[in-house]
Amino acid sequence: FTNDGGDHDSGRVRVAVRLRPRNAEELLSDADFADCVELQPELKRLKLRKNNWSSESYKFDEVFTENASQRRVYEVVAKPVVESVLNGYNGTVMAYGQTGSGKTYTLGRLGKDDASERGIMVRSLEDILANISHTSDSVDVSYLQLYMESLQDLLAPEKVNIYIGEDPKTGDVTVPGATVVRIRDLDHFLELLQIGEANRHAANTKLNTESSRSHAILMVNVRRSVQGRQANETTTLEQGKTNLPGTDVVPRIQKSKLLIVDLAGSERLDKSGSEGHLLEEAKFINLSLTSLGKCINALAENSSHIPTRDSKLTRLLRDSFGGSARTSLIVTIGPSSWNHAETTSTIMFGQRAM
Ligand code: ADP
Ligand code: MG
Repeated sequence: FTNDGGDHDSGRVRVAVRLRPRNAEELLSDADFADCVELQPELKRLKLRKNNWSSESYKFDEVFTENASQRRVYEVVAKPVVESVLNGYNGTVMAYGQTGSGKTYTLGRLGKDDASERGIMVRSLEDILANISHTSDSVDVSYLQLYMESLQDLLAPEKVNIYIGEDPKTGDVTVPGATVVRIRDLDHFLELLQIGEANRHAANTKLNTESSRSHAILMVNVRRSVQGRQANETTTLEQGKTNLPGTDVVPRIQKSKLLIVDLAGSERLDKSGSEGHLLEEAKFINLSLTSLGKCINALAENSSHIPTRDSKLTRLLRDSFGGSARTSLIVTIGPSSWNHAETTSTIMFGQRAM
């Protein structure tokens, strides 16, 4: 997460861990409560207990203790991505972790009564709106849910099975069927997010599932009118004439996209003897998270082939990670040793991305 003062730091996925505070249940059961992790934020390390006598230490780009503020998490994890989106590059911020570990708190918190509680979605929009021209630029938002390989519109819940397409000219990923709302100001966005949350809840009640079984995806398309060369165009020095002052100042449209993804709970449903519908759900969640893991590993290994075709989640992410796009992953964990197995697999998912 080093801020390189404008230099574009793409390619590799930046990975942070966030530990949530103990919840009431964990606080009450002090006696048999034991933490299974120990954070060393100054070393950006996390020690994970393996058993009673040994632990393993893992390094991350950043490690957030239970005291880390929403503001700090935003500034370290998401702000560099937002800045690069403002400069014309695509970007992604994702949260991965078991249900109850703090993904939605980190990304989707509205903070209506207390702005300091606002999560990454709200803070990102706040920064974008503060940095664009309100006469010549625009910010368009769609809010989607991916459930069992069906893409649904959280702003118009009757729209299900939305098609994921590709712009024939640019090759960009598109979702032509989704509702797109042009954002006027932050209050407008907060309203929209709240509608999306209510729809998510209602849709999942109807489907008789939990929102933790689906991925929520906020898609933010930024269009800016920029003077001269597009920011994401490489400067070609051999074309001497483009360096001449005055030849460059034609206004051009710069387009970029930010995806903020609240992933489905990473816990393995299949181990608890799920049957029927639950087992089907588990298979789809495993499919999308496994294919996401494969893409992230490929990015970490600097592979020229990122296997995005295997799931709708990764097809949707195709042009928002890898290449010139900037990607941050925040893995969220709880402190309790009750969740040792899930916490271990979450940490491993994060490590494989680095
Ligand atoms: P997830 O989306 O991963 O299922 P949530 O974000 O809903 O988990 O968090 C579960 C509970 O823990 C919520 O009540 C949330 O408010 C609380 N929580 C999570 N992270 C934090 C945090 N960093 N500080 C305070 N409360 C948190
Ligand atoms: Mg959640």
